Amino acid sequence: MLSFSSKKIGIDLGTANILLWESGKGIILNEPSVVAVTDDFDVLAVGKEAQTMVGRTPDNIKAIYPLKDGVIADYVVTEAMLRYFINRAQGSFRVFKPIVMVCVPGGGTNTERKAALDATIEAGAKEAFLIEEPLAAAIGAGIPISSPTGSMIIDIGGGTTEAAVLSLGGVVNKNSIRTGGNKLDQAIVTYIRKQYNLMIGDRTAEQIKIEIGSALSMPDELSIEIRGRDLIAGLPKTITITSSEITYAIAPALKEILNVAKSVLEKTPPELSSDVIDRGIIMTGGGALLRNLDQLLTNELGVGCQIADDPLLCVVKGVGVALDNLDIFKKTLNLLR
Ligand code: ADP
Ligand code: MG
Repeated sequence: MLSFSSKKIGIDLGTANILLWESGKGIILNEPSVVAVTDDFDVLAVGKEAQTMVGRTPDNIKAIYPLKDGVIADYVVTEAMLRYFINRAQGSFRVFKPIVMVCVPGGGTNTERKAALDATIEAGAKEAFLIEEPLAAAIGAGIPISSPTGSMIIDIGGGTTEAAVLSLGGVVNKNSIRTGGNKLDQAIVTYIRKQYNLMIGDRTAEQIKIEIGSALSMPDELSIEIRGRDLIAGLPKTITITSSEITYAIAPALKEILNVAKSVLEKTPPELSSDVIDRGIIMTGGGALLRNLDQLLTNELGVGCQIADDPLLCVVKGVGVALDNLDIFKKTLNLLR
């Protein structure tokens, strides 16, 4: 279809997944944020297609997650990935360049923010805006962020966890760490190697986490059969793992996530923290889906924690709402361009 005005595209540029939203359409794309490149940095595949190559690539092909630790770790690859997805969203008849709003995790320093904006412009945007992740997550979770009542959000992604208290459309205080779902996967890899002398890949670990992982021990244990390579015999081996083993393995990483939320609560002014106690904490990001994590956080923080609807989609939905209401949000949100 021939378009005679700029499309508006919202992007959740996550460490694990990239989602695109188009004004008037909603979510148009949801793929892992990974790129397969050759030694000479030629892009071979992006997204789902590239993910199938992770851990299976020959020496001359690398699968890169360009936002590895919540910042743009690899600028060139990030830009290539953005260009690929923006072009796909634009379709074949590109008359005007799109207006793009991006949400990057962590997004701490000015240099990191500028890198995200530059990459978006270089990737083909006419105009680019940045939105802070906690704000986008809160808007997408349906929290009335412009009200003077304090609310708290914790977004647990692949590479980062961000906790923030919001009031009057702004972030009152926040904290983030470079610990998220990936750390849990790595903890599972390490546990299985130490306990069983068995080598498994990150993606197998993630699958174990999703299928049987739990933040608290459960009365009815789950179990799963896994295959890996025996480190002593060097041969394939199959073992059975239970959910309580996973609970044990991931406990230290969960403690880090818990401490981020604690530190934000501790720094919150009393009026706002009493709002948070009343209203509870909303959890977003894929990590929020870990079994019983809401219960663990509730127990340890003494504040009710609740998973948002579709936690993996909150950020991109929030970016979409902000983009559709740019005039309003330009005034209240700390949008950068
Ligand atoms: P990012 O914003 O960093 O791209 P996401 O919000 O997309 O991250 O979440 C990705 C993370 O969520 C991954 O670590 C993934 O393993 C984890 N995840 C997804 N679904 C589940 C689930 N059901 N249980 C536990 N973790 C999950
Ligand atoms: Mg995210």
